Amino acid sequence: MLLRNLKIWDGIENHYSDQFDALRITDQGLLVLTTSDDIQGGEATQDLAGAYAIPGLIDAHIHLCLDPREPDPFAHGKLPESEQLKAMAERAYKMVRAGITSARDLGGGQWLELKIRDAIKSGDIQGPRLVCAGQPITSVEGHCHFWGGEANDEASALTVLDRQVKKGVDLIKVMATGGNITPGSRPVDAQFDETIIRAIVRAANSQGFSVAAHCHGVDGIRNAAHAGVTTIEHCSWVGPEGWGKHYEPELARTIGEKGIWVSPTVNAGWGRHLGNERYLAAINARYQAMKAEGCRLIASTDAGIPNVFHEDLPKALAVFKAVAALSNLETLKSATSECARAVGLEAVTGRLADGLSADILMFDQSPLDNLEVLENPSWIFANGQQITGQ
Ligand SMILES: [Zn+2]
Repeated sequence: MLLRNLKIWDGIENHYSDQFDALRITDQGLLVLTTSDDIQGGEATQDLAGAYAIPGLIDAHIHLCLDPREPDPFAHGKLPESEQLKAMAERAYKMVRAGITSARDLGGGQWLELKIRDAIKSGDIQGPRLVCAGQPITSVEGHCHFWGGEANDEASALTVLDRQVKKGVDLIKVMATGGNITPGSRPVDAQFDETIIRAIVRAANSQGFSVAAHCHGVDGIRNAAHAGVTTIEHCSWVGPEGWGKHYEPELARTIGEKGIWVSPTVNAGWGRHLGNERYLAAINARYQAMKAEGCRLIASTDAGIPNVFHEDLPKALAVFKAVAALSNLETLKSATSECARAVGLEAVTGRLADGLSADILMFDQSPLDNLEVLENPSWIFANGQQITGQ
């Protein structure tokens, strides 16, 4: 199939392509960039009349098993498996209908998201391409311990890791600090020391897995950064004085130098802070400082936690831009090419380039000029399959 008369953003450059204006989707669902006059015999064509095409969006942090309408994070674990799978498939479908064509699932207790991943991959259901972490490694009674990944020392942490690998996960998640949604767990507290996280990273990397580390408190950020994790989730700089109050330039430099991605889980709900000028100035300054130290940012929402809906990444990106003081280009890259690199999908998606998966969103207006258009894609292709459009 040939999609003609497009303005193509490749996921990298600050402009639309001056070389190509058409995308061919091969029978394998892969992309070929070409020109509108390159119609091959017998090929289906679609004239998009100057629509703007960009790569499908990627959310670097979701939990498919969590129901955002449910205040109790463990409520889902009490439902029968079939009911959970049905709800998860519905969430996955909503995501891909919103233009989220890939996502990284950072934790559940029963590996059900791996079943959804495989059902999407085999074409049984429609949803984003998923990479999944399974049970996060956490301390005894630590953050999200109800998912079953508790460990009290290095050996038991590696036992939890081995269990995830046997179940077929794509990466490893470690809770380096406490978190909000677990009673008795405090975001400021580090859960593991650097030695244990280092052992987790070594064991994961040696088997080809990346490591995502949940980090609110600055001690946990330090342990995770020094241990060389792949992505730091949240990165909330929580200290004794509270959220965002304990930014350390030296530590941000280490994160930048090590090439660790920061995944700040800015969801659409953060929009409520944007009218608070003092808050906005402080958080803008912190993100600017992190960027100046070389920290690379990726888009993520933590979808599934209360009131954070799985399909809302397109809405969250304009808020992420405002919170982190990003340009439209930086924001779009954080949800496409940069995000694909961070979650290990750069050889598959994140750009509109020859040989990558045909994950394509099309718009009547230019997303490079206005991020709000992301909420209204006119056409969506995911993995070469048309999801919406005429
Ligand atoms: Zn999370």
